[in-house]
Amino acid sequence: MPRTLSILGATGSIGVQTLDVVMANPDEFRLGWLTVNTRFDLLEEHLGRLQKHGFTPQGVVIADESAYNEFRRITSFKGKILCGDEGVCEAAAAPENDILLSALVGFSGVLPNYAAIQQGTPIALANKETLVSAGAVIMPAARERGVEILAVDSEHSAILQCLAGEYLEEVEKLILTASGGPFREWTIEQLENVTPAQALKHPNWSMGNKITIDSATLMNKGFEVIEAYWLFGVGAEKIEVVVHPQSIIHSMVQFCDGSVKAQLGLPDMKIPISYALSLPHRYPSNFKRMDICALQNLSFFPPDMVRFPCLRLAFDSLAQGGTAACIVNAANEIAVASFLQGTIGFLDIPRLIETCLEKITHIDTPTLDDIVQTDKKTRALAESLVKQGMSVPAVLMPKVNGAATNPNLVSS
Ligand code: NAD
Ligand code: MG
Repeated sequence: MPRTLSILGATGSIGVQTLDVVMANPDEFRLGWLTVNTRFDLLEEHLGRLQKHGFTPQGVVIADESAYNEFRRITSFKGKILCGDEGVCEAAAAPENDILLSALVGFSGVLPNYAAIQQGTPIALANKETLVSAGAVIMPAARERGVEILAVDSEHSAILQCLAGEYLEEVEKLILTASGGPFREWTIEQLENVTPAQALKHPNWSMGNKITIDSATLMNKGFEVIEAYWLFGVGAEKIEVVVHPQSIIHSMVQFCDGSVKAQLGLPDMKIPISYALSLPHRYPSNFKRMDICALQNLSFFPPDMVRFPCLRLAFDSLAQGGTAACIVNAANEIAVASFLQGTIGFLDIPRLIETCLEKITHIDTPTLDDIVQTDKKTRALAESLVKQGMSVPAVLMPKVNGAATNPNLVSS
């Protein structure tokens, strides 16, 4: 029986690759809802492509109001068309969904994912920021409702595959691999002058802009540590990061007898997306295969948390618990957007986050509302710090390179 799949963030990098998996497995799926933010033009294009493969979604949501109006003007789509954040939540919680692929970017995923859990719908989760910001509320809610949260992230998919048939009590550690990003070998001085164009060139993966910058700062790996903590329920001390520039081993699990299992494959997100939708089975595919004999040099290094302080900040926030990681996520979203706009430097990203962590009131056992409010307050603070800092960009220096001298970005 085909299952009804809805996709949040259908025009994004993960969303589009999910559509490819769906079209490659036409007997497995019906499409429920597709949601997008602003790219109504891309949505129209994908609807045409889907139709040629015999797929017509039940409805679509365009979160942005002016894009919604434009879409209504140009589209020939006959299904339901909704607008706004409420529309996204309605699609996420639609009773006809058998499974939801959640690929929104950032905190925008939290409320829709929560709505899906309340409805009892299993979630294939790409949107890691939901667990980073709100894991303390999302995971207990999912457990209470018996809702499965299935990993889409390649590292977590690898761990899930390594854990198949194993006992969690026998896991000694989870080893998350990181490509190290484009600046793996750069000095602090070089990192200071990184441009958005340089940071947007990831060596191995083609992804949305936000996660590409997060990969360059290693914040993405930090978020993945937090994601692994919530998904697999192992202590933070059992999660390790290792830099593996080739991105062939997607992650590993070490067991109490010293045995280590790894999952390998070409860097192709369609594989983990497909697994999240098919597990415990696998869909046959014609995705490109790995040539094992061509793998000459697989290398591994410990990460450098001095040149890449975002990874340290993520570990620290996990140790602190409560709303700490929510603050890190919100400050990071503003920092990344500001970096992409050219208003702050690459090394100002961790500096801004650290300042927000120190200034925003911490809540130990937050409710969903506490998390939403903390996210809002942190964004407001980060935005005002960026605005004030813009007048003196030359002194926006990271602590790691000596004393930070901008009063707006110095911790009190
Ligand atoms: P993307 O920027 O390519 O796409 C994001 C999608 O979300 C788009 O469809 C956009 O329209 C929608 N969206 C963005 N902001 C929104 C808002 N405020 N309201 C409603 N819709 C909104 O991002 P991506 O690279 O596909 O990443 C999506 C998620 O998956 C992120 O959390 C990312 O960390 C995670 N992820 C991505 C990859 C990858 O290879 N791209 C790998 C692992 C995990
Ligand atoms: Mg990943």
